[in-house]
Amino acid sequence: MLLPQHNYLQPASLNECLMALQDAGEFGQIVAGGTDVIFNMRLKLFRPKTVVSIRRLTELMQVEELPDGSLRIGAACRLTDLAENPIINDRFPAFSESIRSVASTHIRNMATLGGNICLQTRCWFTNNSQQWRQGKESCFKTDGDICHVIKSSEKKCHAINNSDTPVALIALNAELTIQKSGAKRVLPIADFFNDDGIEFMKLCPDELVTHVTIPPCNDRLIFSKYAARKGIDFSIGSIAARCNGEGEQTDKVSLILGSLSTAPIKLTKAAEIIQTKGLTDGAIEQAADTVRGDLGEVTNLYSRAVYKKQIARVLVKRTLTHLKNM
Ligand SMILES: Cc1cc2nc3c(=O)[nH]c(=O)nc-3n(C[C@H](O)[C@H](O)[C@H](O)COP(=O)(O)OP(=O)(O)OC[C@H]3O[C@@H](n4cnc5c(N)ncnc54)[C@H](O)[C@@H]3O)c2cc1C
Repeated sequence: MLLPQHNYLQPASLNECLMALQDAGEFGQIVAGGTDVIFNMRLKLFRPKTVVSIRRLTELMQVEELPDGSLRIGAACRLTDLAENPIINDRFPAFSESIRSVASTHIRNMATLGGNICLQTRCWFTNNSQQWRQGKESCFKTDGDICHVIKSSEKKCHAINNSDTPVALIALNAELTIQKSGAKRVLPIADFFNDDGIEFMKLCPDELVTHVTIPPCNDRLIFSKYAARKGIDFSIGSIAARCNGEGEQTDKVSLILGSLSTAPIKLTKAAEIIQTKGLTDGAIEQAADTVRGDLGEVTNLYSRAVYKKQIARVLVKRTLTHLKNM
């Protein structure tokens, strides 16, 4: 599968990069590690005229502890370097676990944090070559007017958000710094994703995620992923669970599920039950029972939707039990 024709730019500074993105506009495409975007270009999912690499931007490759105790991570940091970073391992082990769970060592050696956060959504139809897709009608995401995944749904595209680190970063209340030429904004990562497989993130074509900032966290926090083969596969379901207190005592809970929908899902009902009743065995069981209702329509990528719903329940129950014993 050949790459579509494109101009390739390798800016040497952040300013130069932002100017290049502004010039390219909607015909531009950022490439970081390239582990996903190059493959998608080969599938002809998109055909950018200009590909802008951020591999030379040393400004985006630093990990810094800020005076308020937050950790600021450059979006172009490689996942391998972050997985081995002693500050991250020591202060944010659940985030570290989410990084190590991405793909394989070879892919993490190329892949970046920004690329993982901005990962294109996937479904069983679009994750195929253009030639294969031509055997069926084009879907909404490929300029057609059908969704092959859930045909009767009002939502247009059910391609899922399948990236691992955002799940942990949402539980950590992390913020993204987003820049374009002449402007900068900061957005909680929890607000970054849209429930839409096509317009899946709040990012304009001329914008770049430059940093991820994680505030201090002394709560109990776990990230866990379920995949067919641990060493390489995308998640069938993933979870980040956070709470304060000790043992069964807690009054602040947050539960985030990944890889089940077009955006990470915040489980509010399950969290409320644990907040009110604590991490008792009965409350954990009751919380797990609410999960199916909070999931909505589930895409059948990598396994049947009914199995994924069951996995979500198991992940919630297992993770809450681990939290209780932490
Ligand atoms: C075999 C295989 C297994 C995989 N398994 C997993 C897995 O288990 N879990 C998982 O999460 N991922 C997995 N991936 C997907 C991918 O490798 C990772 O998500 C990786 O972290 C992407 O990072 P990258 O730097 O290579 O991104 P790229 O491919 O360079 O870019 C990905 C997307 O992000 C955009 N982008 C990149 N950086 C920025 C930025 N700073 N600002 C704005 N937009 C940006 C690009 O334009 C592109 O749309 C897998 C991939 C393969 C090939």
